[in-house]
Amino acid sequence: MLDNLTQRLAKAVKTMRGEARLTESNTAEMLREVRLALLEADVALPAVREFIGRVKEKAMGEDVIGALSPGQALVGVVQRELAAIMGADLGPEASQLNFATQPPAIILMAGLQGAGKTTTVGKLAKYLREQKKKKVLTVSADVYRPAAIGQLKTVTEQVGADFFPSEITDKPVDIALAALDYAKRHYHDVLIIDTAGRLGIDEAMMQEISAIHAAVKPIETLFVVDAMLGQDAINTAKAFSDALPLTGIVLTKLDGDSRGGAALSVRHITGKPIKFAGVAEKLDGLEAFDPVRMADRILG
Ligand code: GDP
Repeated sequence: MLDNLTQRLAKAVKTMRGEARLTESNTAEMLREVRLALLEADVALPAVREFIGRVKEKAMGEDVIGALSPGQALVGVVQRELAAIMGADLGPEASQLNFATQPPAIILMAGLQGAGKTTTVGKLAKYLREQKKKKVLTVSADVYRPAAIGQLKTVTEQVGADFFPSEITDKPVDIALAALDYAKRHYHDVLIIDTAGRLGIDEAMMQEISAIHAAVKPIETLFVVDAMLGQDAINTAKAFSDALPLTGIVLTKLDGDSRGGAALSVRHITGKPIKFAGVAEKLDGLEAFDPVRMADRILG
């Protein structure tokens, strides 16, 4: 089993007995351990580099006296900084959905196929109905996979929200606009638009979702990403973040055994808050994202 960060740093710290402050030279070895721990958690290298730079800056001059050991002092800095980057410094409002618009508030879902978009639409619809007392309509703009439309219909019915049927012969933009028109006429508070995902990044898919975005101007554009994605999370996040003005992230499959380094990679690229965590296949498996817990998990 891998040592956790505190144990690793305790081993790396032999050289700095009697020193009262963290300095560039006495923390270099410990920072190498932090770097390795993050890489083992599948954080992508550019995100690791940025984070280590930030920790170094914050750690310099940090008082070791009072901490049980210099390693412990550095662990404290690492934990605080990681939680801050995960969103602890954004405040609790950052993870709230924005409804400050003329109804319906439109939520556009983006992400690769298999990321968990459709499941998350069901979870969000349930949460919005039960916790926020919203009247919710869902629609699928995935005209390439009739099964995806059927899956959305099923999850929507399971949570008691309304489903707008789409025809696979229609254009995705037209489907979204028709659903919006229906939602307005039937006084829905929220319209959630599920979109097609491909197995990899694909120019045509990006253009299509950008066109939907331009047509309906959603107040929330959520990037759904699988926590198990590992190093690749950074490229996926970059492609979606370049194509769309994202407003938030949903990190799915956190019930799996990944350390969830994808969370740091995605924050590094997008700078947008992670609003929710998917923690089960079931439709009640959605939680508000907890930055401190995520930081602990990544550090092992
Ligand atoms: P989409 O292609 O992005 O719409 O992805 P789906 O919603 O179809 O989800 C793909 C698979 O991931 C399905 O088998 C879901 O049940 C599963 N899934 C989605 N979210 C979660 C989650 O938070 N935890 C777990 N364990 N499975 C999930």
